[in-house]
Amino acid sequence: MKLDATDLRYVTTDEFRVLTATEMGSKNHEIVPTPLIAQLSGLRSGGVNKCIGSLAKRGLVAKVQNAKYDGYRLTYGGYDYLAMRALSKRGTMGSVGNQIGVGKEADVYVVANDEGESMVLKLHRLGRISFRTIKTKRDYLGKRKSASWMYMSRLAAQKEYAFMKVLHEHGFPVPRPIDQARHTILMELINAYPLRQIAEHPNPGQLYSTLMSLIVRLARAGLIHGDFNEFNILIREDGQPILIDFPQMVSVGHENAEWYFNRDVQCIRTFFRRRFGYESKLYPRFKAALNDEGETAFELDVEVEASGFGRKEMGLLQEYMDSVLEAEAEEDDEEEEEDGEQEEEQEAADEDVEAKAAEEAEEAEAVEDEIADQQHENDESE
Ligand code: ADP
Ligand code: MG
Repeated sequence: MKLDATDLRYVTTDEFRVLTATEMGSKNHEIVPTPLIAQLSGLRSGGVNKCIGSLAKRGLVAKVQNAKYDGYRLTYGGYDYLAMRALSKRGTMGSVGNQIGVGKEADVYVVANDEGESMVLKLHRLGRISFRTIKTKRDYLGKRKSASWMYMSRLAAQKEYAFMKVLHEHGFPVPRPIDQARHTILMELINAYPLRQIAEHPNPGQLYSTLMSLIVRLARAGLIHGDFNEFNILIREDGQPILIDFPQMVSVGHENAEWYFNRDVQCIRTFFRRRFGYESKLYPRFKAALNDEGETAFELDVEVEASGFGRKEMGLLQEYMDSVLEAEAEEDDEEEEEDGEQEEEQEAADEDVEAKAAEEAEEAEAVEDEIADQQHENDESE
């Protein structure tokens, strides 16, 4: 998706109120009825329609029709706009440059502040994987029934920012976090290539042990990266690795901590064998890593919790991510099984209808604290 920085300047005050009203209405309506947008924006209805029209033309809101009424939903573009506007109001970001990453669950851009200093803006996109598929599997939402792509993406950004901050403060090789708004984080631009793109290395053994030491150092600080692979390790010109991408980070206290730890270790071993033909009998074990004497262990997982990204949010996001993994694994299985029995398909279709009904019921339900949260955030960012 193209981010258009000029948009930041060309939204009128009234259009902005209408856009914010649509965002607020989205918390409990998948499709926000036009009268509700009018009410939340506090504008007269004639004015509102004109604003909605121009916002829709620019793709910041989209018209949706359902059986009962017509309305609008905030698009990714609209949410991106609101986040960037907040950053720009705070003076941390001024313009948008090239896209440098398109992930399954995030887009990454080079942006700049008004001093012309380059930075990286990462926009989380958790809803790309159908919520419907996941909702049928598990009620991961708990009480927060109307959680949506917006909410989950925002949680992911808040989590990533909280971890990046704590890691950076403790001298771990991660980008310097600069700011966070809605589903986005702003961070230092690292001048480096992902390990994935490094064809040759003068001393793979040394890099291997640096990376393994990093995994151990993290564990001793209470954390496991959870996605420690050649895409998320940037290698600077001086050979130093910089670690990125933290939304899936877990505490060493997590029930599957050892599994996550071993997977991170295994990723590096496999990559070094395939890419550099390098194999070593030496690699870290979870329990030994934790009991390692030497530098004093500290508890970054606890520190992150204290920083405002609480246990509740962490749990919610974790459950969502676990269900995505499960849903993906099941999809893979289904592909392998090939033309799956029709019975199963019928079952899935039934589930889908049920899920949709449940989803609609859920969407009708209000989540007051979420709105309060968002309003608070909006107040703060304006
Ligand atoms: P995703 O969740 O999509 O994997 P990442 O945080 O891993 O998101 O970022 C995707 C890509 O964007 C990375 O592989 C890297 O090439 C680039 N990137 C991300 N953050 C930075 C940064 N701070 N500096 C330089 N490049 C970055
Ligand atoms: Mg990544």
